[in-house]
Amino acid sequence: MEMTIKDPLGTAVVVLSGGQDSTTCLFWAIKKYKKVIGISFDYGQKHIKEIECAKNICLENNIEHHIIELPILNTLTENSLTRIDIDVDSEKPKEGLPNSFVDGRNMLFLNVAAIFAKQKGAHTIITGVSQTDFSGYPDCRYEFIKSMEVSLTLAMDYPFSIKTPLMWLDKSQVWNLADELGVLDVIREKTITCYNGIKGEGCGKCPACKLRNEGYKKFLQEYKK
Ligand code: ZN
Repeated sequence: MEMTIKDPLGTAVVVLSGGQDSTTCLFWAIKKYKKVIGISFDYGQKHIKEIECAKNICLENNIEHHIIELPILNTLTENSLTRIDIDVDSEKPKEGLPNSFVDGRNMLFLNVAAIFAKQKGAHTIITGVSQTDFSGYPDCRYEFIKSMEVSLTLAMDYPFSIKTPLMWLDKSQVWNLADELGVLDVIREKTITCYNGIKGEGCGKCPACKLRNEGYKKFLQEYKK
């Protein structure tokens, strides 16, 4: 099925968690699209502060923002992002998926984002997934995104394009992109990536912080000599 998007740079819907990656995508989209809408999901994550970050960043940049409740994820799965009695793995497990992986989360988010986008007359959905610093999440892979794009287009008989500006960037390159977009400080100070819910530099100990902070160091070494 071939379908073309009439207005490819019209409206884009950005899946916004309030973290470094999705917020960088938001600013990337602001430069590129006529209209940008942020959409965040409340699925019972322990750190509701993420959503607060997303909301505030949109407010400060005059971006329309919606929060959609998806409590069903928490009902259906057991994982360390939503369950207060499960700690996030501090190291990547040798086998299997990290306990911060939530089955079907990205797929569900993209599905809901697509339903929302169609209502808004938007064809573009933007997500901050990346295959480069692959933490073992199968639904961050390029192949999955491409197949999802086809499925959504078939399911709603409406052409969708899923853009993943960070797909092939490592964390230092994501920092550099933020710098090029002129929002390095915004990303450093106003986003939250930490699994322990600490804004900015975070706890420094969880896998998300390690990735973020090591990426920042590498960015300084490679781009800011
Ligand atoms: Zn942390």
